[in-house]
Amino acid sequence: MAIQRALLSVSDKTGLVDFAKQLHDFGVELLSTGGTAAAIRDAGLPVIDVSSYTGAPELFEGRVKTLHPKVHGGLLHKRDNSEHIAQAKDNDIPPIDLVVVNLYPFEETIAKPDVTLEQAIENIDIGGPSMLRSAAKNYKSVTVVTDSADYERVVEEMKEHEGDTTLKLREELAVKVFLRTSQYDGAITNYLSQAAEGTRSSFSITLPFERELRYGDNPHQASTLYGDFSDCFVQLQGKELSYTNILDIEAAADLICDFARPTVAILKHTNPCGVGQDDECLREAWQRAFETDTQAPFGGVIVVNRPLTEKLAKIISTIFTDVIIAPDFEPEARAILQKKKNLRLIKMNEDAYAIAKKAPVIRSCPGGLMVMDRDHTALGLDNLEERVVTKRPPTEEEMRAMRFAWRVVKHVKSNAIVYAKSDRTLGIGAGQMSRVDSSRIAVWKAEEAGLSLNGSVIASDAMFPFADGLQAAIAAGATACIQPGGSIRDEEVIAAADEAGISMVFTSHRHFRH
Ligand code: 5GP
Repeated sequence: MAIQRALLSVSDKTGLVDFAKQLHDFGVELLSTGGTAAAIRDAGLPVIDVSSYTGAPELFEGRVKTLHPKVHGGLLHKRDNSEHIAQAKDNDIPPIDLVVVNLYPFEETIAKPDVTLEQAIENIDIGGPSMLRSAAKNYKSVTVVTDSADYERVVEEMKEHEGDTTLKLREELAVKVFLRTSQYDGAITNYLSQAAEGTRSSFSITLPFERELRYGDNPHQASTLYGDFSDCFVQLQGKELSYTNILDIEAAADLICDFARPTVAILKHTNPCGVGQDDECLREAWQRAFETDTQAPFGGVIVVNRPLTEKLAKIISTIFTDVIIAPDFEPEARAILQKKKNLRLIKMNEDAYAIAKKAPVIRSCPGGLMVMDRDHTALGLDNLEERVVTKRPPTEEEMRAMRFAWRVVKHVKSNAIVYAKSDRTLGIGAGQMSRVDSSRIAVWKAEEAGLSLNGSVIASDAMFPFADGLQAAIAAGATACIQPGGSIRDEEVIAAADEAGISMVFTSHRHFRH
């Protein structure tokens, strides 16, 4: 049956008037709440206030507007059940066939830095989710719209089906409602549980299906992607993304966001194989990154923090690469890379990613999940001059190199060691069970690459527990060291540095990555 009566109550009034106009043209009677009714009335359309429809006034500053049997009964009664129909008639409850509701902006409200608990609580919508749920439960007969992007689809169907919608669309919209209300409730749960107890006493998460991935770590492991990953990373070309591609993309994006200067990084299995910088030319930056390790980048991920240039595209296209990530691609670069059909080009939407990055890190564990704040910025780099612990202060060049190396080491799996100059990595040792082994690997990698460590700096993601690790670095040619400090043997480590005349800073923060 054609839609005859609609209830509209929206906080976000995008597209509202147009949609209301179209509904009116179909002969639909419009019911609405305070601000929404005013907007519809201002557009010259007839609209009935819910309060006059129900005979109950809007109460308590709008806390009670639509919570009334005439509203919920109108939504919930079964249209094919004679008892329901009779009860509706006896109680003067006409059917409401369409609900258009979007909710008080709770998520936006709590995202504001100076939000108060009172403001957050006032932005918990009660009547809106209730109507959405009533309508969605009765989707067999009721159409429910909570996303203004769906207005047009409803109108299209009404045009095609004599003022009605199809069951298929109603079902889809109902699922969308329950997803939205569970996300909304999840945001409230997470906010209030933290606000009330100072710690998240419970954690809720509901994400929409995005797509099936090719497979997980291995082909025999199925894998599915949920959420809005594609809002942050738009795939421009290439083979479908896999689970491991997504892990690599996250690691690459996280790394590149720690650098403001034009930077190129090459990653493999979420670890950087090389990072290079150059203020003038991305290709130079690439060269510095690539020289760190010319073998590992095969099948790796390349990330840049400037639009990818034609020059760089030319050189990259000579190497087998799995994924390239950039904030943009020059058209000439696109043209060159397009020839590589399988190569995945990813345009990083920096604004969307900046928001997504605020979300905590979530990992599964047996029986539940672990939630952790993200390791946002390289800590301990402020007033680094005051963090010198050795007799010899670092030179300006060493200082720059240490800042660079510290930012890189934060993105290397623990135990992590990075040898670097101010604009390039020289040797990276990742993921070893012993810090000394990571250091050995870093030295060996630099040797393999034909790079000298004389005058380099060493960065360690966590403290050197003994002097031996530092002594090995000194022997390899390092003249400065950046590390958190905090070992009970710090004095020994500092003495070893002073004896060799090298310079060392303690950041007082570690950057483990497990
Ligand atoms: P309006 O701008 O029309 O005054 O308010 C629209 C908003 O009110 C919508 O976000 C809708 O979800 C919400 N709303 C509708 N009915 C009620 C109710 O009874 N209680 C509360 N707290 N919110 C409601």
